[in-house]
Amino acid sequence: MTDSQQFTFKAETKQLLNILIHSLYKDREVFLRELLSNASDAINRLRFEMLTNANVLDADAELKIHVRADKDSRTVTIQDTGIGMTREEAIDHLGVIAQSGARKFLEAAKEKNVDASGMIGQFGVGFYSVFMVAEWVKVTSRSFHPDAEAVTWYATGDDAYQVSAGEMSERGTKIEIKLKEDAAEFAEEYRIKNIIHKHSDYIGFPIYVGDEKESVNKQTSLWRTSRNEITEDQYKDFYRQTTLDFEEPLSHIHFVTDAPVQLYALLYIPSKAERGVFALRKEDGLKLYSRNILIDDYNKDLLPEYLRFVQGVVDSEDLPLNVSRETVQSSGLMPKLKKVLTGQVIKELESMAKKDAEKYNSFWGEFGAYLKQGIAASPMDTENIQGLLRFKTNLNPETWSSLEEYVGRMKAEQKEIYFIVGEDSKSVLRSPHLDYFHAQGTEVLLLTDPMDSFMLMGLRKYKDFELKNVSQADVKIDEKEKEKAEAEKMPDTDFNTLIEKFKQVLGEQVADVRASSRLSQSVARLVDPDGTMNPEMQRVYKFLGKEYEVPKKILELNPSHAILKNLLKLENADLQTAIVEQIYDSALLVEGLHPDPSSIAPRVQRIIEAALQK
Ligand code: ADP
Ligand code: MG
Repeated sequence: MTDSQQFTFKAETKQLLNILIHSLYKDREVFLRELLSNASDAINRLRFEMLTNANVLDADAELKIHVRADKDSRTVTIQDTGIGMTREEAIDHLGVIAQSGARKFLEAAKEKNVDASGMIGQFGVGFYSVFMVAEWVKVTSRSFHPDAEAVTWYATGDDAYQVSAGEMSERGTKIEIKLKEDAAEFAEEYRIKNIIHKHSDYIGFPIYVGDEKESVNKQTSLWRTSRNEITEDQYKDFYRQTTLDFEEPLSHIHFVTDAPVQLYALLYIPSKAERGVFALRKEDGLKLYSRNILIDDYNKDLLPEYLRFVQGVVDSEDLPLNVSRETVQSSGLMPKLKKVLTGQVIKELESMAKKDAEKYNSFWGEFGAYLKQGIAASPMDTENIQGLLRFKTNLNPETWSSLEEYVGRMKAEQKEIYFIVGEDSKSVLRSPHLDYFHAQGTEVLLLTDPMDSFMLMGLRKYKDFELKNVSQADVKIDEKEKEKAEAEKMPDTDFNTLIEKFKQVLGEQVADVRASSRLSQSVARLVDPDGTMNPEMQRVYKFLGKEYEVPKKILELNPSHAILKNLLKLENADLQTAIVEQIYDSALLVEGLHPDPSSIAPRVQRIIEAALQK
């Protein structure tokens, strides 16, 4: 009976192999990094298994990785005491591309149509990177299942690989590599040690080389290493290796606490909200380790949702050892961890804002919407987040201002923080609601981001100052302006006639038409009748797509405005009607509420024609 089976690689694997085999790539050494990382993953998975299952092969074997090299035969062997593979697993896992980095690498290679081999080191293409240096590879493995049989997987980088019964009595995986002639350097022990120091120092298990009894690597994971022993580059490397984000992170947060919980954390704030196309981590969440054992690759309970852009690792000695991914959730420890981590991230952002405003502004540009969401969704955190918010204002439309800065610039008599909501800053700056704010030089926050309306649900007050929509604010108009407006006002009887005309033309479209004392430059504005939902909430409903009709508005007219005075005298009744309609439509436009803006064009044309006839 023959137990040997032959399989062919999938098309995309062949493609990858083809690139790797022909690569003259100078950093071929990363193959060792990839194999050691797989060995370390395998040992980690075994440790995880052993938390709940004592029935494993070689339960007492040391958890370690052994690298042996033989210059004469030009071979190098990497053996681990990890979880091992059954025959089925070897076929499933080694026969196809597992690394998402490898797939992305292929896409990039295709797209760029250049010598992509220069990028292999960055991507980390996983197990197959061995074919950069190997003439052939033989993997022998024995699974932790006590009754599993050993298996051998063999490939030369051709289209096919062979699987047969293997000979191995101990648990784990052994990878034998026959090096290509031009890769003989990797059979030198000193070279191997160098590579380990460079790329794999932080692997959490001892790596022995040759017959030496001392492990070559440091063995402490980066997050458990003291800060002053880590260089900036090491921090950045670690980020890149865990995320495959090639943009440098904006900053990292590395800390250890002992109370109220013991934890190590190494967190990163990415520089872009959008994950790169090559990103390794497709989901939100932090890596959670318990005493150095990875128990969850994407834990979403360690930070509030609004900080979900944060990347990194959390490791706690306090998590009970019999944890499973499910019981982590129910252990009372999670809320404590979350509180500490949230506090640290906010502290880091505050300090970034203080020390490097430019960097913080770039953070804000990318992640501001997340924090606004936090205000809406996590009322408990509002107080902490408030200080991190940034706004453009009518007086400072180009720069970002904090609420603290806004309040610092407020006039002595100002008792409220004013804001206006709208579609974009150009149109809100033209809003008639701002007439007096402009005239009096009062600063108003311009809230033009869809998230702003949600944020306002949780942000009603900052320090002692309530936030007030300008359309609903009482403004104090100074005596001089009042007198001037009074003097220019049209007589009451005329104004009433005009109001009747507006009501007759607009009919059901408006709730009412009335005079306003709040307008100076503008002819008209729209306001909500008392008791309707405030304009921010109306927006929230609009965004949520709730069945919801914009409530009818009140049209307020400026009795001192020349246009209205002349409108009354206009003899052409059709033209008068058209202008009334146009005034209403214009008011809808600046509110961002017009349902069909282009419908205005024909009427405007009629008005122009009439103007030219004169
Ligand atoms: P990744 O490590 O991202 O999963 P790789 O291409 O590096 O992708 O490895 C492919 C798969 O092969 C691994 O997911 C694992 O299942 C299996 N494997 C590789 N090396 C080992 C090993 N030393 N022990 C056990 N399984 C391994
Ligand atoms: Mg791997």
